[in-house]
Amino acid sequence: MNLELSGDQLLLKESFERLFRTDSSPARVRAAEPAGFDQDLWQSLAEMGALTMRVPEADGGGGFSLLDAQIVAEEAGKALASAPLIEAMVSNRLLARLTAVTDNPEIRALLDRAMHKNAVITLALFDVADRPEQIIAGGSAAEVVLALDGDRILACESGRQEDFLENLADLPIARWNLTEGALLAEGEAARAEFGAALEEWKLLTAAELNGMARRTVELATAYASERIQFGKPIGTYQGIAHPLANLIMEIDGGQLLNWWAASRLADGASDAGATISMSFWWAAKTAGQAGERALHTHGGYGLSLEYDVQLYHRRTKARALLLGDPNDELLNVGRRSWLGETPALPEAGAMPLDFGFGDAAAKLSAETEAFFRDNMTPELEAKAHFSFEGHDWDFHRKLGTARLLFPSWPEEFGGRNADPYAAVCSAAVWDEHNWGRVGTGVTDMVGHMIQWFGHPETKAEVLPLLARGEATCSLGYSEPGSGSDVFAARTRAVRDGEEWVINGQKMFTSGAELASYIFLLTRTDPDAPKHKGVTMFLVPIDTPGIEIRPIYTFQDERTNTTFYADVRIPDRFRIGEVNGGTAVLGSALRLEQGGGGYVPVHDKMLELAVKWAQQTKRAGKPAIEDTSVLSRLSRIAVHGVVSDMLSRRSLWTTAEGKQDLAYGPMSKVFAVETYNQDSTDLLDLTAPDSILRRPGPPGQIERDHRRSTASTIYAGASEVLRSMIGEKALGLPRSR
Ligand SMILES: Cc1cc2nc3c(=O)[nH]c(=O)nc-3n(C[C@H](O)[C@H](O)[C@H](O)COP(=O)(O)OP(=O)(O)OC[C@H]3O[C@@H](n4cnc5c(N)ncnc54)[C@H](O)[C@@H]3O)c2cc1C
Repeated sequence: MNLELSGDQLLLKESFERLFRTDSSPARVRAAEPAGFDQDLWQSLAEMGALTMRVPEADGGGGFSLLDAQIVAEEAGKALASAPLIEAMVSNRLLARLTAVTDNPEIRALLDRAMHKNAVITLALFDVADRPEQIIAGGSAAEVVLALDGDRILACESGRQEDFLENLADLPIARWNLTEGALLAEGEAARAEFGAALEEWKLLTAAELNGMARRTVELATAYASERIQFGKPIGTYQGIAHPLANLIMEIDGGQLLNWWAASRLADGASDAGATISMSFWWAAKTAGQAGERALHTHGGYGLSLEYDVQLYHRRTKARALLLGDPNDELLNVGRRSWLGETPALPEAGAMPLDFGFGDAAAKLSAETEAFFRDNMTPELEAKAHFSFEGHDWDFHRKLGTARLLFPSWPEEFGGRNADPYAAVCSAAVWDEHNWGRVGTGVTDMVGHMIQWFGHPETKAEVLPLLARGEATCSLGYSEPGSGSDVFAARTRAVRDGEEWVINGQKMFTSGAELASYIFLLTRTDPDAPKHKGVTMFLVPIDTPGIEIRPIYTFQDERTNTTFYADVRIPDRFRIGEVNGGTAVLGSALRLEQGGGGYVPVHDKMLELAVKWAQQTKRAGKPAIEDTSVLSRLSRIAVHGVVSDMLSRRSLWTTAEGKQDLAYGPMSKVFAVETYNQDSTDLLDLTAPDSILRRPGPPGQIERDHRRSTASTIYAGASEVLRSMIGEKALGLPRSR
């Protein structure tokens, strides 16, 4: 996996950042408002080769890849560039591509005008057959509009009806009549090239919108960090900080989705067309919300024309609307995913990003899959539950013997030294088979803590038992008085010679009824600040003085409250330094908050819902053909891919030791919040069957709905994680 731009791409990004800083400063954007077009900026873009960067080198252009163009588009968005840059990039490339379709000399002449005279050439986003007159992006500055009329491509030069249409965001637009134009090319191949150009426009516009949204949130963050109300910066209020945290997570996800779409194109993947639609819809939605939220963050001042945020507020909304209602593009996600629509697609060119998990991961997944195929029985399938409830000791030991419980552990401790990608992919197979990974995930995490911080004797004694599947662990962090504020734990551990004596109570000690060990958070120095007085232990469950009482939850999951009365354990069961529990628990929480585990679960829920919509009739037709059903399923599909992107980035960051700006919390919050929102939506969609506890898709959705509710609470409640995102990813002041 590699989610880092190449050195050349970073240089490209920097050089356009520099160009826009001077040639598209807020003052220049304001100066261009009367026409929406800055002729000097256009000149600079032409000199930088931006207008023809997507024209192949053989045709005299830059021959840059789609991803390169996405990078430039994003920078243009950040600076609100007053120029139809994307329209030009796409139109000029289309002209070059048409030279291969027909030898009409008019095409080469137009390309020469674009390349040598910097002529503004743009394209019509709607078929002339449907809309002979239409608003043209870049149309107020354009000399030529390329338009598709049925299967004919026309070059229109004389149809502009007004010089400039006053509009919400001072975009350079005009209405054109496109019925008269020179015929450039016709036939299926020409039509396909035009279609591919439109798809490229969507992808680049999505990149531009992502850039705009990011800059908009930066403006809001800067203001929220400085503006004082009620004696504090407004960014310390969660009502201000959390929506911005949500936005940066969604914008990051949108950028990754935009790159993912290019990568799917480069791979020739069958979902490439759907991912373009996903990227456009998501960017349009997120940018609009960023503009609204940023203006709101500025209070009354945001409305003042002196403030830049109002420029962003208007542009983040208006730019996407040139293609009409962005929700139409959401329907395209569904049509392309499930109704067989296959659009013509652009070529992506070189792609240095690699979203794949690698060969080792594929091999281990295949082995895990084969294991499940060979060993799952109808009895086990009936017993399966996502939590500790489905635990089966025989099956667990078999997994241990096959060394499939904890593949990332070193071989000496019963693992396979598998890389993190392989371990995650192997775990996903469990979810695909509905076999709960929660309990084993807990033991996996505790095993890592023992390896990293444990006493050598404890490692030698405990790890082989865990790896063979003969013992499991459970987590004892939460207490009656401390949940989210986990470091406020009061359970006391007091040293007595070579032993520790533990007294206290834990809440929600899930899986304690099965476990051999509890990974326990204790207070060892009550006088120190709360983070400095805690120590972690591995407490053997059969130690005298431990009592376990069940708590039953509405998601069919038993958890427990556990009591500790003069529980004595040797010092070798201490995990980490005395009063150093924060470092140990911090590492454990980072592993727990990666969020990746919900991606296969969300995918599976969508798969069931799609199956339901294909098999259920509405008004005599499959429900999936109903646009309301299709758009809801499509929205869920987009959430699934964005979640997957954030989860891959979190994994990659950890695996490669890259800079981490709360990527784990972003991945977790996005995954569980969309899981919760989407399962609720599907509960509505599949009602009334969904309220029945039965096998089959609606019944599974009902279970997902109950499960998803808890997922927003455990392993870090969403509010607490949003505060972390605000602080770490945006640099907002502390809001807890
Ligand atoms: C089914 C289940 C299994 C669990 N398993 C385990 C386990 O095995 N081991 C274990 O130790 N724990 C476990 N937990 C506990 C879980 O980690 C806690 O429930 C969680 O940390 C939240 O604590 P709380 O329930 O006390 O809620 P609280 O922390 O009291 O939170 C209540 C509400 O207030 C919000 N809130 C809290 N602090 C803030 C803040 N600073 N800003 C804004 N909002 C805030 C929360 O988001 C939440 O919405 C489990 C919980 C459940 C439901």
